[in-house]
Amino acid sequence: MPEAMRIGIGYDIHRLVDGRPLLLGGIQIDYDRGLLGHSDGDVVLHAVTDAMLGAAGLPDIGDLFPDTDPAYEGADSRVLLTEAVVKVRQAGFVPNNVDVIVHAEKPKLTEHKKLMAASIAALLGLEESAVCVKAKTNEGLGPLGHAQGIACSAVASVRHV
Ligand code: MG
Repeated sequence: MPEAMRIGIGYDIHRLVDGRPLLLGGIQIDYDRGLLGHSDGDVVLHAVTDAMLGAAGLPDIGDLFPDTDPAYEGADSRVLLTEAVVKVRQAGFVPNNVDVIVHAEKPKLTEHKKLMAASIAALLGLEESAVCVKAKTNEGLGPLGHAQGIACSAVASVRHV
């Protein structure tokens, strides 16, 4: 019998470029640059998706939704996470909780954390209290610290049902 509770980890990073909307955690954030990607570039949802998949022992986001597949060009990452959760459920698990750190020098995300958490919770069918989103700068260090991109780390747990 599978374990009652399992943990997964996810990480992603995307480059910030001109001329793209900035989507983080499924919400659009007002900023003059956005994240480059084959999909909509939502680095937060990609990290959460991988954490969920990892917790359920499933193949990762790159295996399930290859960036070489034209079907996923410009893909809405909310749809990718929703499809991943279907697979998690098919594997006999349900989402339990998610903890997220967004690594972004710019823009400041303090006022968006709650909205991101609510958006992720809705996509996973969880109470808002089961999703925590933290935002950290990189203290000016390295490419992240120079706002050349945004990264995200996520941990998720799933319960066996
Ligand atoms: Mg990605």
